[in-house]
Amino acid sequence: MNPDQAQCDVAVVGGGIAGLTAAWQLAEAGYSVMLFDARDRFGGRVLTLPAAPRDRNMPWLDVGPAWFWPHQRHMQLMVSHFGLEVFAQHTQGLATFDRGAASVPERFDATGQLGRSLRLMGGMQALTSALVRAAQSAHRPAALIANAHVRLLRWVNGVIEVSESDLLCSARAVVLAAPPRVLARDVEFSPPLPEALQQSLRNTVTWMGHSMKCVVSYEQPFWRNAGLSGYAVSWTGPLQEIHDASMPSSAESPATYAIMGFVTPRTSPAGTAFRSASVAERRTAVLEQLARLFGANALSVLDYEELDWSAQPLSSATDDVQPPSEHPAYGAPLFDALAWEGRLAWAGAETSAVEGGYLDGAIASGLRAARLLEATLR
Ligand SMILES: Cc1cc2nc3c(=O)[nH]c(=O)nc-3n(C[C@H](O)[C@H](O)[C@H](O)COP(=O)(O)OP(=O)(O)OC[C@H]3O[C@@H](n4cnc5c(N)ncnc54)[C@H](O)[C@@H]3O)c2cc1C
Repeated sequence: MNPDQAQCDVAVVGGGIAGLTAAWQLAEAGYSVMLFDARDRFGGRVLTLPAAPRDRNMPWLDVGPAWFWPHQRHMQLMVSHFGLEVFAQHTQGLATFDRGAASVPERFDATGQLGRSLRLMGGMQALTSALVRAAQSAHRPAALIANAHVRLLRWVNGVIEVSESDLLCSARAVVLAAPPRVLARDVEFSPPLPEALQQSLRNTVTWMGHSMKCVVSYEQPFWRNAGLSGYAVSWTGPLQEIHDASMPSSAESPATYAIMGFVTPRTSPAGTAFRSASVAERRTAVLEQLARLFGANALSVLDYEELDWSAQPLSSATDDVQPPSEHPAYGAPLFDALAWEGRLAWAGAETSAVEGGYLDGAIASGLRAARLLEATLR
């Protein structure tokens, strides 16, 4: 890229749901926007993989977030604005409680324990794709640039220089839309941010930064056919919390049947052992657990996918490996203010006091960053 040409009103660092929302809103308001993401794709913690066999046009498997909830008004806004298709998480049937290999799984009625979780047809990727399209076709189309890992922000002569090893662009303002701890670790600020802000960045837990998710897809929903919901809680793992991850049929594709589970944390002995095993060993351990819980049909799989988010440095910092004991109180007040005399805005799920850590909070934070910058850039 020719640095002489790379000038814009706003540079956005991070192309997850928060950064894409901010980029779309600012581009729609007529500002020139360049968004940079360190990965070779957009969406960040949203990642939906095609289910196997891939030549059968199967719907997709979420290895990142899959759910939102009826009270989340920013998600509802996106669903209605982009016309996304919603379906309810499958919960019908008996739940399962697993004390471990030595005891028989217990069945129980979990009706009332599970909130009304909603999912998107095509997976959560449908939201990323809608935001990418909206940003790229906005009133003043935003430039979305992948494989650009921002390392330095330098505020000099009234502009902010955004650099990887070379200059990426000079911007009038910047939206920081990556997890706060990841920013604190990877990005140098010149002049340095105030100490209180640096501390807030370092202290903010990256939601689900400790997590690992496994998804197994099947030809048939054999657990449903046996009167089971697919929901299970296990004391021994490797999967700790298990859910049905199937997707209904649509005009374009047949239904997929799948089960997903969150792995016991890395900080427990079982979690450490599981993560240090080979993929083949992990697959075997997961299938054996599912067979114990749901029957031998669980061994005949179409596909096995897994993602250890705690090993993804762009989504998790060293301190995030330890899961928090409860949902953290997100949205430190410093993130509501602009730094560097109104030129630096914060976005990202963890900066939102509203539904902090969740997709809904990510959207809320992107809208807030755009609103604050619009007021100062005008
Ligand atoms: C396994 C899992 C399950 C989850 N389940 C749910 C759920 O069911 N419902 C829900 O609401 N939420 C869930 N979440 C949380 C949800 O994923 C997040 O709230 C949301 O995706 C955060 O979006 P974001 O844009 O704030 O951050 P991110 O998605 O993390 O995006 C940040 C982006 O910044 C990029 N980046 C980082 N550093 C740099 C840099 N220096 N330069 C350039 N780019 C950089 C990253 O590559 C990334 O794309 C889950 C998360 C995980 C991991």
